Amino acid sequence: MSSTRSTPRPRRQAYDAVVIGGGPGGSTASTLLARHGLSVLQLERKPLPRFKIGESLIPATYDVLRRLGMLDRLRASAFPKKYSVQFISEDGRASAPFYFSETDPSERSQTWQVLRGDFDRMLLDNARQAGVEVLEGVAVRDVLFDGEPAAGARARGVRLELADGRRADVASRVVVDASGRSTLLAKKLGLRRPDPHLKMAALFTHFEGAVRDAGRDEGATLVIHVESKAGWVWYIPLPDDRVSVGIVGPIDYLVSGRRGDPQKVFDEEIARCPGVRPRLAPARQVMDVQVLKNFSYQSSRVAGDGWVLVGDAYAFLDPIYSTGVLLAFKSGELAADAIAAALAADDPSAARLGVFGPTIERGMEAFRGLVYAFYDRRFSFARFLKRHPEHRQAVIDILVGDVFDRDFGPLYADMERMLPGLRPSSPAQLASVAGVA
Ligand SMILES: Cc1cc2nc3c(=O)[nH]c(=O)nc-3n(C[C@H](O)[C@H](O)[C@H](O)COP(=O)(O)OP(=O)(O)OC[C@H]3O[C@@H](n4cnc5c(N)ncnc54)[C@H](O)[C@@H]3O)c2cc1C
Repeated sequence: MSSTRSTPRPRRQAYDAVVIGGGPGGSTASTLLARHGLSVLQLERKPLPRFKIGESLIPATYDVLRRLGMLDRLRASAFPKKYSVQFISEDGRASAPFYFSETDPSERSQTWQVLRGDFDRMLLDNARQAGVEVLEGVAVRDVLFDGEPAAGARARGVRLELADGRRADVASRVVVDASGRSTLLAKKLGLRRPDPHLKMAALFTHFEGAVRDAGRDEGATLVIHVESKAGWVWYIPLPDDRVSVGIVGPIDYLVSGRRGDPQKVFDEEIARCPGVRPRLAPARQVMDVQVLKNFSYQSSRVAGDGWVLVGDAYAFLDPIYSTGVLLAFKSGELAADAIAAALAADDPSAARLGVFGPTIERGMEAFRGLVYAFYDRRFSFARFLKRHPEHRQAVIDILVGDVFDRDFGPLYADMERMLPGLRPSSPAQLASVAGVA
């Protein structure tokens, strides 16, 4: 057999939808589009499983996992169960854990810590089972338009690079960009806007043999301030005795050249963090330290004629509350339903495809307020909730991810009274970002 014949290539020349990316956003959109009866091609440039950061889920992912039919597979997996998140101060004092079951004692309040290579593989296999044609090792090089995109042209397909290096064009009624932080379309169309208030970097790696809490707390996410409060550390228990540990802080603090290489900075920060140091004392680091920076951004539109952005390809907020996979799931789900309705009406226009933008933006706005609060040195959860115990439920709802159809106005009004100037975004900015202004 010739190498050309063994190279995976699309079976058809045209599809109802092409989905770029095999992460959680892409697989949610592709699976649900196929279940709507549409022909779907999904393309992932790196064969799975591959390493990916983003290992801690939050409970509201349950609803999408249930719709995807994934819950039994997760229940049967070795992924540690996560019941809570706990914040530890710079001097090592732990707050009482926020148990998600406090406000909802159902099964939904338990979630999982996942190895993303395995988790994303499960989601992609599920997409195949739903009828999606999935090609791995195939990169999308361009999104094709029927004219100048800036002049309102319609997306009409994609240009692929197959595993053997050959190019191929595929036609599609709708293109879903779920390419993650590559933000393929947002970059091409000049839509990507960095968040000027969150110029952060992250250094992260995995350990084996680190200390784990017992019982219900074994799978808890710990969020630990380093001394000086300049940064924070995540501690996420994974399967096979692994723990994911990462440090997040301002770019000029964490990755300025004068502090030396990433491993040295990582070691220095752990040494300054009494909340995590003893947990790592018996552990062995099993991966080189990875670096990411400037990861908070948003696209100025969620959809155009014939195209939609999903997950990180649209926006990423910040890792502090582990909201990335939920936002990828939710936008993938809402995008799939909007696309199915638009194609049924034979009208894949920006207005129809983008109907879900305001819902996603409402959710992001709810998270964003708590993100800005966390990075405001004046803020402390303990102090705020001592003064306003009536808001504990709202704070837990945000940590759970129940944010899309809720009004957190009273919570943020009281937060802003305590911390004037806390939220730099305005309703006008919100509307224009969601594409409804
Ligand atoms: C430091 C850090 C920590 C984080 N921690 C968490 C956490 O604990 N919990 C959480 O929920 N989220 C976390 N996140 C966020 C999380 O990683 C993302 O939000 C999530 O992976 C988004 O899913 P997605 O499907 O949109 O994109 P991705 O998961 O990035 O998937 C995109 C896929 O598209 C593929 N791709 C890209 N370009 C192309 C192309 N041209 N052609 C074909 N394929 C392409 C990529 O290979 C990739 O597999 C974290 C993020 C950062 C930066």
